[in-house]
Amino acid sequence: MLYISLFLLFLAFIFFWQSNRQRQAAGLPGGRVIYTDTRGWGKLEKPLFYAPLELTGKPDYLVQQNGQIIPVEVKSGRAPEAPYDSHIYQLASYCLLVEKTYGKRPPYGIIHYETRDFAVDYTQELESSLLDLLAEMKRDQHKKDVPRSHEQASRCARCGFRKVCDQRLL
Ligand code: SF4
Repeated sequence: MLYISLFLLFLAFIFFWQSNRQRQAAGLPGGRVIYTDTRGWGKLEKPLFYAPLELTGKPDYLVQQNGQIIPVEVKSGRAPEAPYDSHIYQLASYCLLVEKTYGKRPPYGIIHYETRDFAVDYTQELESSLLDLLAEMKRDQHKKDVPRSHEQASRCARCGFRKVCDQRLL
């Protein structure tokens, strides 16, 4: 029994190490667990917009902290070991919008899951990855065929396009 437990622990470590390595290779910060006090969180009236990138978005909350404005994205469901890449990119786009709107670069943003909060540093590398991704999405807008970019059946299950999508996984 002890050997099985140790083996499972070893496997979990390998998976965690590997996902961390892939994330670092993509230039994405992993996020660190933090404690947050939700009393300071303020709701936004309107979405933020940045015309040069035609980018718009509405963080769930903004927090004012030591002269900084920190965007917060709230996600339902159990917290993963590390924030999903799609959540990191969404938060990064809010950081960019906050910087362009208020003239202050947030040092990090917060992803709030039901059981845990992560602070994700808004680094120059993350901003560059975001800009590359936005450019890629713009290019793909004009393509007729864009292949599915994931293997997550649960994502397809919640997708609004599943009735018309011929690449759905379920
Ligand atoms: S149903 Fe299609 S568009 Fe929606 S998540 Fe799945 S593959 Fe993507």
